[in-house]
Amino acid sequence: MTHNTSLHGAAHHNQVVIFLGPPGAGKGTQAERLAAEHGLTKISTGDILRDHVARGTELGQQVAPILESGKLVPDDLLIALIRDQLSKMETVRVIFDGFPRTTAQAQELEMLLEQLGAPISAVPLLEVPDDVLIARIVERGKSSGRNDDNEQVARHRQEVYRQQTQPLIDYYAARGHLKPINGVGSMDEVYQRLQQVIG
Ligand code: ADP
Repeated sequence: MTHNTSLHGAAHHNQVVIFLGPPGAGKGTQAERLAAEHGLTKISTGDILRDHVARGTELGQQVAPILESGKLVPDDLLIALIRDQLSKMETVRVIFDGFPRTTAQAQELEMLLEQLGAPISAVPLLEVPDDVLIARIVERGKSSGRNDDNEQVARHRQEVYRQQTQPLIDYYAARGHLKPINGVGSMDEVYQRLQQVIG
């Protein structure tokens, strides 16, 4: 077995980052870079679900219409998926992008992490004003190939976020994990702010 300790002194240590923020805030791009530079595995539930849709798996066929509508996939499917991902890891070094999205998912994750002995390290919240978000998603839609990246579905996704995911802000603030970050600025500026809270 080989461990890469040269880049990251703490490569054996558990590290759990949960990335919160509305659709279009830029979590995916920033999470990708944080994962690469901190030796973390990025777990993006949106990417995993879209991959199932593209491969036409049973799960993919089940969730395709839900993704297209901008609504949330049922909690039990997501929880099973995350349990599966985490159980494969010897050391839990992850950054979650797009999960949890409901209080039920957050509670299940908490139990799962407790079983694994991997406490949450930080919950950065990427804050971006609503009008900027819709504009970014519509712009992204020109090249993303995602059929939920249009203005109508984007607005619905914001609404779903407000109703079902925003309560997680208080949930993680109450536990002392929440780190609000200004998500307006260049990619590098936002990345530097994130670096400071992730450590
Ligand atoms: P964005 O954050 O840009 O809206 P994502 O790629 O994170 O997009 O998610 C796309 C879609 O995948 C969501 O609108 C939802 O249908 C589904 N999805 C992703 N993660 C979850 C989750 N944790 N719970 C329920 N549904 C999810």
